[in-house]
Amino acid sequence: MFNIILFGPPGSGKGTQSEQLIAKYHLKHLSTGDILRAEIANKTPLGLEAKSIMDKGQLVPDEVVIGMISSALDANPNVSGFLFDGFPRTTAQCEALDKLLQLKKTEIAVVLALDVSEEELIKRLLNRGLTSGRSDDTNEEVIKARITEYRNKTTVVADYYKQFKKVVMIKGEGSISEIFDSLCSEIDKRLSN
Ligand code: ADP
Repeated sequence: MFNIILFGPPGSGKGTQSEQLIAKYHLKHLSTGDILRAEIANKTPLGLEAKSIMDKGQLVPDEVVIGMISSALDANPNVSGFLFDGFPRTTAQCEALDKLLQLKKTEIAVVLALDVSEEELIKRLLNRGLTSGRSDDTNEEVIKARITEYRNKTTVVADYYKQFKKVVMIKGEGSISEIFDSLCSEIDKRLSN
């Protein structure tokens, strides 16, 4: 299996790039944000609990998202690899993911980290909010809270994988296709090894 984490702050383009990457490399896309929004749309108890947290721009508890990822891994036994998007977001989530992958005799091949300035992130998210229907994209205070959560809790994810030399920084500004090409070239290097 070949497993990738696409890493970066809210609005860094993970969703956009994921769509193209999964098509090219035949990976299963696991986005915790998408799974949570599906729970909200289906009005499940988990969705109801998550919505109020997400609307404040805060992180959903680790045990909730770890449980979701564990089920998703079990539900997809025969895929050639996973692309994790929006997960892991804390050190506890990194450690849990490592254990889950170990049980499946696999690991993370590379963490591709999209680098985008804060000014550009806010601009993109407010712009996305005009059409996304996402309540967490329309309010600048909530967007800033998400970026603060990212800085306080999620930047440690890069530090975690740096100890295993798995992190590659990718310039996340420029055209979508330029960024896609940079991501693909890093993936191809590792696939040919
Ligand atoms: P973005 O990266 O643009 O903020 P996501 O769709 O990845 O958007 O996540 C939206 C919200 O869902 C987050 O602000 C957070 O509340 C919740 N969420 C998603 N993934 C996680 C996670 N791994 N751990 C905790 N909360 C999460």
